Parts: sequence; C-alpha cells; structure tokens
Amino acid sequence: MPMLLVIGLDGASYDLCERWIGEGHLPNLERIKREGCWGPLQSTTPSVSPVAWSTFMTGKDPGEHGVFGFFVPERSAPHLPPTRFRPVNAPDCHSQRFWERMNEAGLSTGIVGVPVTYPVQPVRGHMVAGLMAPGLRSPGAAYPRELAAEIKAKVGPYQIVPPGTYYPGAEESFLQQAHAALELRGRLASYLLAHHRCDVHVFVWYETDLVQHKMWQFMDRKHPRHNPVTGKRWAGAILDIYQHADALLGNLCEQLGPGDTLVVLSDHGAGPLHGTLHLNTWLREQGYLVLRQGYQQQLKRAANRYGFVQHCSALARLFGVSRWMRPSQGARRALASGFLSASDIDWAATRAYSLGFEGAIYVVGERREQTIAELVGCLQELRDPTAGEPMVQGVQRGADLYHGDYANYAPDVVLHLRDHLYSASQKAFAPKLVGMGVDSGTHQPEGVFGALGCARAVRSGHEVVDLSTVARFLLEVVGISSDPTCPKGPASS
Ligand SMILES: [Zn+2]
Repeated sequence: MPMLLVIGLDGASYDLCERWIGEGHLPNLERIKREGCWGPLQSTTPSVSPVAWSTFMTGKDPGEHGVFGFFVPERSAPHLPPTRFRPVNAPDCHSQRFWERMNEAGLSTGIVGVPVTYPVQPVRGHMVAGLMAPGLRSPGAAYPRELAAEIKAKVGPYQIVPPGTYYPGAEESFLQQAHAALELRGRLASYLLAHHRCDVHVFVWYETDLVQHKMWQFMDRKHPRHNPVTGKRWAGAILDIYQHADALLGNLCEQLGPGDTLVVLSDHGAGPLHGTLHLNTWLREQGYLVLRQGYQQQLKRAANRYGFVQHCSALARLFGVSRWMRPSQGARRALASGFLSASDIDWAATRAYSLGFEGAIYVVGERREQTIAELVGCLQELRDPTAGEPMVQGVQRGADLYHGDYANYAPDVVLHLRDHLYSASQKAFAPKLVGMGVDSGTHQPEGVFGALGCARAVRSGHEVVDLSTVARFLLEVVGISSDPTCPKGPASS
C-alpha cells in the first residue's frame, strides 16, 4: 500500500510561496509545482485556524461542522445568553473526520498537530493533538497515551503550541524559539515515518503562521509600523521560516517511496495587519453591550486603561516567571482580550456581543431581527478613527452565510474587514476603538495546495480549489469514494 503524506503549513500564503518559488528560495515546493499540481486554496469564513482546519478534516462548511472561531459561547439553545466563553475543541466539531473513514476502511492513520483535535480519540494508528490543546503531557493530547513519553524520550521537547513569546526587541529569541519548535516538528515527522509507519500521515506545522503574525512589519515597507533600521535587520524572518519548512519537507521526501503521494497545503494565507477593531468596545459605546458594574469589572476596566495586563506580562518576563506560569493559549488570549467573560455582561440589558479575531457578533434578547438589521446597517459605516478610512468592506447576516445543521449556532452578524487589513478583538474594556497590539500580520483568505505523486492524485488535485474539497481528494487518493452511501473500503482502480 503506497503512503499518503500530508503536510499542513499553517498560514502559508499562496502569493509568498509563488514569489519565493520564483526566486529559487523554496526548492521542494518548486518541485511540487513543477512535477505535480499546485495552486491557491480558498479558506473558510472566517479564515482562522480552528474553523479552517475543521473544514479541512471534515470536508464540511462551518454551518455543517459547527466550529466558527477560537471561542465558543456555551448556550443551552441557540440565541440564548451564554453561561461562559471557552476555547473551541474537538467535541465542538460535529462531522466525521476523513481519517475516521480511512480507519473504517482498514487504513492506518497518523495524525499530528491538526488544530481542534483535543482530546484525541483512539484511532487505527496514532494521534497527537494540535493548536487549542493544553500540552503534550495532558491526558488526551496523544493516542496511544504512551506516545507522549516516547516523543519526549526519542524526539525531544516537542511542543504542541510553540511558546511564541514575542515583544518588540525580542525578535532574536522569538525566532530562535520558532525555528527550534519547527525543527522538532520535522524531527517528530521523520521519527514517526520511520518507527510508526501508517498508510496515511498528516502533520500540521504552526510556525509559518506564528512568525507571519509577529514579523510582518519588518519585510513590508508599506506597513504603518515599518522601521527601516529594524526592517533591514529582520526583513528575512518570514522567508527564513518558509525555507526551514521547505528544507524539512525535502528531508521527509527522502523517506517516500516511488508510489507514495505528498500533499502540501495551508489553511489560509497571510498579509499585513493595520489595526485591531475592539468590537465589544464599539457595541458597548452604542448601547448594545452592557457590562455589569461590580468590583471585578471596575478592576478589569482600570487594568486595561493603564496597561496593567501588559505590565504584568512584562514583569513576569523580567523575573523569568513567564515560563513557569505557562498560561495556556486560551488563558493568554483571555488575558489579551481584557478578561471579558460571560459573567462580566449584564445579560438582561445586552443585545449583542462579539467573540474576537474576525468580526463575529452574536445577537441575544427579544427583537433579535431588529437588532441584526440595525447592526448590518451601521457597522458598514465604521471608520478607522486615526486614518479616517473605512474599516468594513461588507457585513453579512450569519443566516445568509452559514447553512447546515449547526448554522443556528453561528454568529448572527459577520463583518468583512477591509482587504483583511484589520482583525477584530473581543476587548470590551479597551479605551480606544482601534488598537495595535504586537502583531503586525494577520490572515488572508488565500492559502496554498500542492500534490505530488501518482497520476490520479495529481490529476484530481487540480480540482481542489477550496478547503472543503481537500478531504474528498485525500479519500480518493487512498481509493475511498467520498460518497458516504457507497460501500466502504479501498476501491479497485
Ligand atoms: Zn491557521
């Protein structure tokens, strides 16, 4: 049985790949482009990793699998006020994953680093959770359980989510950590291919996205925060991480046989970030979101106003306790978001709230339809208060955008921020409407897809144009019909 190897490069951008392939910097991707199939891959709406990778693994749209962002408002029924906000994870993704169908057909699968797979489920093969998982040591991070200890002993200090502590001035150590983390991902892939060989291997590498978020300003001379001096020093940071990933890919190719198939893809692309829209701050100013007036909320408000959160993390770094504190990805995001929790909100008086990153607004209470219509109308007019330019390219109703069994749980209003130059946050205590954190890059909707191997794979790979078609393609490559009503099992071809 020939092997199928899938490498996910989180956030690898089609335009950057094209440019750097053209300049001869990415010889292994260049080979896929030359000998296989290659092209842009449209992401999901929103084009954020949990949503996009859920679509990758299920072949379904968000309305069908039920993952709409990093956070889930936990509700007993759609449109009710949530009891809490929590990070999204595997149980929130409600469709069958392509590897489950492969396992049913008797194929073994090794799935490593795919976001939203925590806690991992038993599979025929092995599995290591990806983004949104707490850490390799936690139960549910690896299947079989002993694999976590084996990885530590045989591969090294592999981390599910890289530390990613970036702040201005820390470029060198940040990049060192990112490269070290990526190196370990390559080493783990190599180790598993050699010692735990499966019919299908999937690895997602995260550092491409991470470095783009933090280092974009240095290579982009038009970025509002570009500084020619630091720009010169770090202009090559993103290319370096792409080259590193390309080299690791080349190493893995040496472990492939002549009949094997290699697929490379990303969940979205990348581009500059010009500002972060604090949508909850706007909703609060407009009277849609009402916060409680308790001690906790006063404290959070003051903490945000005086930069307490940032000072705290700076102090933690200074005294070297940030490693020891090791906040989870979710906790770090909650910190950065100004601690907004469901208990901060006066639900009796609130009509709408937002859950960050891209502009997703949930509407609650009576007169929902009226609130949605109002929001669609006035959000269109939002302008960047500093630059004076429009921030919003389009506003859609969730009901028009999402279809399927879980569409009821989708955000009610979805913003399309202009040219994807802005992101949204869920800060409710931010003093300003538009802010700029440490990130200078964000997501664009165009990722990349490439395949190299058997003629059938390459031929049908040309039809893969958006993320929801990838699962069907992968099933076809291993000879399983993507139609679930067809008899299961490798087809005779
Ligand atoms: Zn991503």
